[in-house]
Amino acid sequence: MLKFTPILLAILYALAMYRFSVWRTARELDARSTELADPRLKRLTDRLAASLDLARIPVYIYEIDPVNGLAAPDGRIFITRGFYRKFQSGEVTGEELSSVIAHELGHVALGHSRRRMIDFSGQNALRTALMMVLGRFIPFFGIWIANMLTSLLAAGLSRSDEYEADAYAAALLTKSGIGIDPQKSLFRKLDALTQQRAGMAPAWLMSHPKTDQRIEALEKLEARWQA
Ligand SMILES: [Zn+2]
Repeated sequence: MLKFTPILLAILYALAMYRFSVWRTARELDARSTELADPRLKRLTDRLAASLDLARIPVYIYEIDPVNGLAAPDGRIFITRGFYRKFQSGEVTGEELSSVIAHELGHVALGHSRRRMIDFSGQNALRTALMMVLGRFIPFFGIWIANMLTSLLAAGLSRSDEYEADAYAAALLTKSGIGIDPQKSLFRKLDALTQQRAGMAPAWLMSHPKTDQRIEALEKLEARWQA
């Protein structure tokens, strides 16, 4: 029984972390967001909604500067103030911004946003359990190995989520008549922004796979759908 205590503790820790992260995220988002009311964008999100047989798709503005879009565990879609400013200044088109909304909708529809929160707390638990077990046999390096293994696993999981969300967005944008081009041009714009700022990637790109590979994956989909 004593042998399993670290694992049991890790599971309890994961559960507590999960509840806490969901609560903290919701509280932060509630406090710093308002529903987006932009007629130009609404025309586009209404087209996405019609393709999904929904009355409308509410989108919220999250009052932070980094260029980012996110899907909350409760299914709400957020665009940061920084991203919205790029639209207002004309650097990003409405179609391009709606491709971000479609991508985040993909994370919600495919259950990623909820799972990611579980992943995050699960990761902490796995790391803790590995550290306890490995640390006992391999002093010092055990902790390092535990960290590396957990990060590798997490990176692999999130990469596949991104490709799935891109594919979902591509299908939705095609069905809505907006098309895949804005999705690809946005990737290129954000990539150019990264070059200008000497490797300082916008947050939305940082958590995502390489731009070239994402565009390539989209072009493969396009070729298949057009055939
Ligand atoms: Zn994503």
